Amino acid sequence: MCKSTPRQVIEPAVIIEQKVDSLLALMTLEEKIGQMSQVRHFDDIESDNDIASKFIGSIIHTLGPFPGKDAAGWQARFRALQNKALSTRLGIPLLFGVDAVHGQNTFEGATIFPHNIGLGATRNAVLVEEIATITALEAQATGFNWVFSPCIAIPYNEKWGRVYEAFSESTELTSELTKASVRGHQGILSESNTVMATAKHYVGDGSTDFGVEGGDTSLSMTEVSKKLLPPYRDAVNEGIGAVMVSFNSLSGLSMHAHKQLITDTLKAGMGFDGMVITDWKGYSRFGRNEIVNAGVDMFMAVDKDLDVFQKGLKVGVLNDTVPIERVDDAVRRILRQKYRLGLFKNPYPDSTLIPKIGITAHRDKARQAVRESLVLLKNENNVLPIDKNVKKIVVVGEHANNSGLQSGGWTISWQGAAENYTGATTILEGIQNLAKGEVIYDPDATGNHTDADIAIILVGETPYAELFGDIGGEIDKYQLTLTEQHQKYIEAYANKGIKTVVILISGRPLVTTKQIEQSQAFVAAWLPGSEGDGIAEVLFGDYNFKGKLPHSWPKSVDDFKGKYGPNFWDKSIVPLYEFGYGLNY
Ligand code: BGC
Repeated sequence: MCKSTPRQVIEPAVIIEQKVDSLLALMTLEEKIGQMSQVRHFDDIESDNDIASKFIGSIIHTLGPFPGKDAAGWQARFRALQNKALSTRLGIPLLFGVDAVHGQNTFEGATIFPHNIGLGATRNAVLVEEIATITALEAQATGFNWVFSPCIAIPYNEKWGRVYEAFSESTELTSELTKASVRGHQGILSESNTVMATAKHYVGDGSTDFGVEGGDTSLSMTEVSKKLLPPYRDAVNEGIGAVMVSFNSLSGLSMHAHKQLITDTLKAGMGFDGMVITDWKGYSRFGRNEIVNAGVDMFMAVDKDLDVFQKGLKVGVLNDTVPIERVDDAVRRILRQKYRLGLFKNPYPDSTLIPKIGITAHRDKARQAVRESLVLLKNENNVLPIDKNVKKIVVVGEHANNSGLQSGGWTISWQGAAENYTGATTILEGIQNLAKGEVIYDPDATGNHTDADIAIILVGETPYAELFGDIGGEIDKYQLTLTEQHQKYIEAYANKGIKTVVILISGRPLVTTKQIEQSQAFVAAWLPGSEGDGIAEVLFGDYNFKGKLPHSWPKSVDDFKGKYGPNFWDKSIVPLYEFGYGLNY
């Protein structure tokens, strides 16, 4: 195993700027366009060789192939790709990017934190910063120097399947946690355990009309400016390295081509000197050279259409439809980040970080986040906390015993899965660890446990990510309520006259008015991630509830008929629980 030397602390800005200028002056047009290209890695020598022959600037790891069988294998693979880049005339190192949106969630065995909505419920900026620090370290340990996180959307409609990727419906809370997240990820950027962060998706992703992923946001520029831009300004002030443009349009104009918002507002207005990247295959999907001219600097996943991008942009420059100054600006921004990351001094991942993946200290932090993210919505007659000595507890529902279900989308695979992951602890295991009496598991509420003292019933959503989680869209697999099957779990135990504690695992508030009435206690647990035992620690009273609602909680499906959900926009709709609600012991 090759051990890297620690990187140097960040160089003075003037020196970096001089180095960028000197390097840029040496570059051919092909080399410049190469830097602007981000490709996936595949298992074939031809695409590996493209890295050198086409001067690629960055690699994205997303859906397969896995770079290796363990972290050392991942590092070795990325080191080999890095060597291809270093073998070129100018030896410009690659950026390696990954969607580490709740921990290094593409690597099995990494610590998986609650999704951002849960972190929004904790309202704990210190904790968010610590989590980002750990995520950065575990991402670096698997070979990455760049993450596509945090998502700083401000969701206005629960029909959007990405609500959970964002902290809150509140601009202020989002801003506060954004700052913490950027600080935690980037730390001292040139060190080997920090990564460049990406604020996404700029802008209006969470406020598309009717919550459609990649739809149109018809908010006025004044509203965008007041409600959606502040977290971006804060991210820029914290020195964020990248901003990803969004799939949505704004009053009909694609955000990828929105020169006013990208070049004038973000770059000139806010003083952002980092790089703007497209979202998935943005070049071919959203206007090709028009989006270069709008101010986009790097082009995600142009692998299968590498020629379309590289030749298309070259022709644009040669026929003067894309000014060379625009290309130079893009490359300058990319090189600046590479210098800031210290990649020219140390382009390789640090192998000493590997043993730190998923260590107890990291999992303890994730468990703390789980505990602090839980929001207690109801606690009739103080049914909670549960006495550990109670004779018999029944735990109900498939979500109780499946770390994939408790982690949601963007976990190991893109859409997530109902699978148990290495190193994770399920909610049931957490309960079994703390209870002193009998714990029975009844996965589908068909058991006849009338003698139980209490039932802990897990209900909620199955994992989904972008597109697949939208309600009322093309796929339309989900709803704003619990499934009938899950409603029956609660009914079955309520009908037996057993005290019920319901734990909702979901990426968004769901309409659960009736189920809250039917149960004695009701907890919104969001998508807690790998450390399911954090839930038991609060249920049994080792810790108090701390979480406060990061979204107001809807009372009826009818409230969603408007363009935006009931929670924020339409003040005539009264939520069941206001933003900020949350009981404790
Ligand atoms: C998502 C981004 C993500 C990118 C790379 C896109 O489809 O919208 O959030 O960073 O894919 O995986």
